[in-house]
Amino acid sequence: MVIMIKPGVQQDKIEHLRNWLEEKQLIVREYQGQEQCVLGLIGDTVSIDVDMLRSLDIVESVADMRDPFKASNRALHPDDTIIQTMGGKGPSIGGGNFGLIAGPCSVESREQVLFVAEEVKKAGANFFRGGAFKPRTSPYDFQGLGEEGLDLLMEVKRTTGLPIVTELMDIRNLEFFDEVDVIQVGARNTQNYDLLRELGKVKNTILLKRGLAGTIKELLMSAEYIMASGNENVILCERGIRTYESDYARNTLDLSAVPILKKLTHLPVIVDPSHATGRAELVPAMSAAVAAAGADGIMIEVHNDPAKALCDGPQSLTPEEFRETAAKIFKIREAIM
Ligand code: PEP
Ligand code: MN
Repeated sequence: MVIMIKPGVQQDKIEHLRNWLEEKQLIVREYQGQEQCVLGLIGDTVSIDVDMLRSLDIVESVADMRDPFKASNRALHPDDTIIQTMGGKGPSIGGGNFGLIAGPCSVESREQVLFVAEEVKKAGANFFRGGAFKPRTSPYDFQGLGEEGLDLLMEVKRTTGLPIVTELMDIRNLEFFDEVDVIQVGARNTQNYDLLRELGKVKNTILLKRGLAGTIKELLMSAEYIMASGNENVILCERGIRTYESDYARNTLDLSAVPILKKLTHLPVIVDPSHATGRAELVPAMSAAVAAAGADGIMIEVHNDPAKALCDGPQSLTPEEFRETAAKIFKIREAIM
């Protein structure tokens, strides 16, 4: 249930209503917009007399919120959430702030990450990505450099100033992720609810990918796990879904997820066209489409030598290809703003 408070109502009156609702065992989320306050009620609202609520002089309207996702629901938070990084000193994502996240699929060496980071930064990227713990389909493939990879990412952050995005697979490794700006939850872990609950207790921003065969609602419910546990800094990422097409693209990019999610939730929505297509030649066109669709950001895999990459080489852009793609993204964003 969503209660819109009339503009200009004094805080003590809102507080009074809030206390009364909390006594009914409801979780009350208060959102203070620029003009007015919204109270979102989470829990069993059957004991609430809606007509009585509507008759209160401080209440403008009361609406049902049937969606199972509550904390991320735009009805509760009409303005876009803006996620800040580096304690407000780094780039933001959401509410008109665009995140251009780039870097290799996995951290392979010091030289590699430092080189790629400088290149993507010059091209306009404002976040650096790189996997240290890799979810590989085969246990015989390169699994990432682990803790050593995280140390290299921290060196990249110190030398370039770029905030770091990297994946956490196992909650037992959380202690090494303190300085990671954005913790990625990969598509294979989107519904690992124990992991999500634990990430609800940390201060880091969480980049939550859509599951391999996940619906939009399931993605929002996964975000709900993180938010209900206390972490509101969640970025949603469309990364392609499994469909019957597999000959010419690794996955199918569900671009309509962008406007759908932007309508349903206040959380920032980004797209990863690299995993969505699995082919570098498709990434520039899809990146342009992502920018045109109004996403809050994009995450692109970039490798110094894609043919020799230890992971996801076929979908990785070279630094030069990335530069051209980034320039196109910026032009499109300017045109649609
Ligand atoms: C990745 O970002 O490298 C990755 C493994 O992504 P996903 O979880 O979307 O497959
Ligand atoms: Mn990858």
